[in-house]
Amino acid sequence: MHSIDMLFAYVIGGFGAWAAALMMLVAVQGDRLHRGVLARCALGFGVVGAGMVLSGVVERDARWPILTLAMAAVVGTLVIYRASRQLVGAPAVGRPRRLSEIAALCLALLLAWAAGPRSFALAFHLLCLAVSLGITWTVRRALVAPRNAAEAAMAVTLLLYAGSWAYALHAAVRYHGAEHRHLLYVEPPWLAAYGVMYALLPLLVGAHVLNLANARLDRRLRRQASTDELTGLLTRRALNERAAAWHADVLERERQPAVLLLDIDHFKPINDNHGHERGDEVLRAVSGRLRGTLREGTPLARWGGEEFLVLLDAVSLDEAGATAERMRAAVGATPFAFGDARLPVTISIGVAPWPAGGVFSHAVRESDAAMYTAKHEGRDRVRVAGAE
Ligand code: GH3
Ligand code: MG
Ligand code: MG
Repeated sequence: MHSIDMLFAYVIGGFGAWAAALMMLVAVQGDRLHRGVLARCALGFGVVGAGMVLSGVVERDARWPILTLAMAAVVGTLVIYRASRQLVGAPAVGRPRRLSEIAALCLALLLAWAAGPRSFALAFHLLCLAVSLGITWTVRRALVAPRNAAEAAMAVTLLLYAGSWAYALHAAVRYHGAEHRHLLYVEPPWLAAYGVMYALLPLLVGAHVLNLANARLDRRLRRQASTDELTGLLTRRALNERAAAWHADVLERERQPAVLLLDIDHFKPINDNHGHERGDEVLRAVSGRLRGTLREGTPLARWGGEEFLVLLDAVSLDEAGATAERMRAAVGATPFAFGDARLPVTISIGVAPWPAGGVFSHAVRESDAAMYTAKHEGRDRVRVAGAE
C-alpha cells in the first residue's frame, strides 16, 4: 500500500465529524425525545472535528496542534459518550460529574505536555485506551444481548476502537524516535490502516448514534401504540397485530382458541353520577381485576371505551366459558372501594370459538352477539355463542 498522509486523513475525518454534527442538528428538529442527547453529541463531534482539521491545516512544524488534537479527541469523545449513554440503556450522568471528568482529562494532558513529548505520547494513548475501554464496558450489554442491529453495530465498532488504542499504546511504548505530529507510532502498513480508520470513524460513529436514536424512538412509539394509556392493557391495534400468530400457535398446540368480549354494565350512569374521573378509575380497577384472573401473557386489550377483548387459549369452549365466569365474578363479586364509597360494578361477557380456518373479525362478531344476548337477558352474565 502507498504511504498515507496521516494529517490529511485527520482533515478528512474532521470534516466527517462536522458532517455528523450537522446531521444531528438536522435530526434534532424532528426528534423531540433526543433533543438534548443529539445536541450534546453534535457539540462533541464539532470539537473532535475542530481538533482534527486544525491538526492538518496549520503549519507542519508547529507543535501546539498536537496538544489541541489530543484534547479535542479526548474531550469530544467523552462528551459524545456521556451524551449517548442513555441511547444504549445506561443511566445518564449529572452535569457536575461530566464537567469534572473533562477538567481532570485536560489537566492530565497538560501535565503530561509539560513533562515532555514521550510522556505526552504515552499519557495520551493511556487516556484514550482508558476512555475507549470505559465506553466499551458501558455498552457490554449491547455486545452480549443487543436489542437491535443499531446497538450491535455500535458495540462492535467501540470494541474495535478500544482494540485499536491497545495496539497504538503498545506501539507508542516501543517507539523511541522523534515525536510525530500525528501522534501515532504504529508501523506501516498499519499506519495506513489507522489513517483510513480516522478518516472514516467520526462519520461512522455519527451514523451509529443517529441509528441508535432512531431505534429508541421506534421502540418508544411502538410501545405507545400498543399500550392503552389509561389501563396499561394492549390497544386494539396491538391485539389485532398479534391475533393471527397467537391463533396459529394455539392450534399447533391442539388447543381451543376462543374470543371473549367483555362490556361493563350500565357504565354511563357511573360517569353521570360520579364524574368522568371516577369512571376512569373504575376502568383501571376493572382492568386490574381482569388481568388478575388471567395467565401471564394472555392477550387482553381495551377494545373500546368500556369494552375489553381477551384471546383465550383453552382446552374446550366449555373451559373458556368457565374462565369467562371467573372473570365476571372477579369484577362483580366485590364492590370497588373509593375512599368510603362502595361502587358495585358488573360485566357481561360473550364467548365465541375461533376455529381453524376461521377469520378473526368473524369470531369477534360472534362474541359481540353473545355479549348482547347476555345484556338482553339481564346483564352480569356470560353467554357462549352457539350454546343453549
Ligand atoms: P350497557 O350496560 O348497555 O353496556 O350500558 P352502558 O351505560 O355501559 O353503555 P353505553 O354504551 O351507553 O355507555 C358507555 C359509556 O362509556 C359512555 C362513555 O361516556 C363511557 N366511556 C367510554 N370511554 C370512556 C373513558 O375512557 N372514560 C370514561 N370515564 N368513560 C368512558
Ligand atoms: Mg359498550
Ligand atoms: Mg357498557
